[in-house]
Amino acid sequence: MRAVTAAIRMHDRFLLTTHEHPDGDALGSLLGMHLGLQALGKDSVMYLPGSGPIAGEYQWMPLDALVRTPPADQAKRVLLALDCAGAGRIGDPVALERAPLILNVDHHHDNTRFGTVDLVIDTASSTGEIVFDLLTALGVTITPEIAEPLYVALVTDTGRYQYSNTTPRALRVGAELVEAGADVAGVFKKVYESVGFPKLKLLARVLDRAEQYEDGAVVISWLVHTDWPDVGAGEGYSEGVIEHLRSVEGARVVALIREPPFRTPVQRRVSLRASDLSIDVSAIARQFGGGGHPQAAGFTSDQTTAELIEAICSAYVAATRGAA
Ligand code: AMP
Ligand code: MN
Ligand code: MN
Repeated sequence: MRAVTAAIRMHDRFLLTTHEHPDGDALGSLLGMHLGLQALGKDSVMYLPGSGPIAGEYQWMPLDALVRTPPADQAKRVLLALDCAGAGRIGDPVALERAPLILNVDHHHDNTRFGTVDLVIDTASSTGEIVFDLLTALGVTITPEIAEPLYVALVTDTGRYQYSNTTPRALRVGAELVEAGADVAGVFKKVYESVGFPKLKLLARVLDRAEQYEDGAVVISWLVHTDWPDVGAGEGYSEGVIEHLRSVEGARVVALIREPPFRTPVQRRVSLRASDLSIDVSAIARQFGGGGHPQAAGFTSDQTTAELIEAICSAYVAATRGAA
């Protein structure tokens, strides 16, 4: 913590980035940190490499300053990676090579420590919680504009303060953010109750296709690339859909296999969730080259959906063998 705050105090130009397919924690941490650095008089640029979509539920966030190509002075900016468990999660390998200094701020237990300085706190509910601590340590006043994105980070990564990472500390930081001006009902309305109608139709397909395996302990569903145009959905419409599969009685591991929207699949994204603290889905994801948290993880693969279903079931059986 001290090494990161010292580095922030010492430097003037920053390039803030996060992982591809950014979630609420990724975008909330990015924006909260950006505004906090600006409050300190720093020159900060938010950079999300590539052209991947921002999920619909986060498009209301004031991210107009976000750039998708690196600034010309990239090599002179301290790179601050937020919510990235490994260098590969940043969609621009060159950014890492060019950076004079890399600050790696994250809460994934399997973080590869790719930074010059690594601030990895796996007991933090979210990267947003760590950003809150950093800004507080730096003496930044948490304005409503800073509080709200950080609140988005906490509320989304904790599953609206319901998942096992909902610590007393996460609740206290949430309370401080609300005191500082984060609008609880407003964020709820914008993130969870302003879903485009086509997303409901995508969800319907996911629920309709869901199958139970291993006596109901594993629930898997999938989306094919034509689903998006069929229902009139945009690219970012499938974020969060997997959470609906977790609620089934007896389900211990749930998976959603997604083809890339609109494109013939080369690679599929697999999201994994464990509803049971005794199973670590990040260990399963790592077997396939991905990673994540014990209760929420993912990977990409060039296997077919049928092959993936079989592989996920085998990995579940292997992971639980002897345990039951
Ligand atoms: P998602 O299923 O995409 O919402 O991601 C859930 C969790 O898994 C997040 O914490 C991600 O950081 C992690 N994750 C997802 N995909 C990957 C991947 N390809 N490699 C490493 N971690 C991943
Ligand atoms: Mn994330
Ligand atoms: Mn996170």
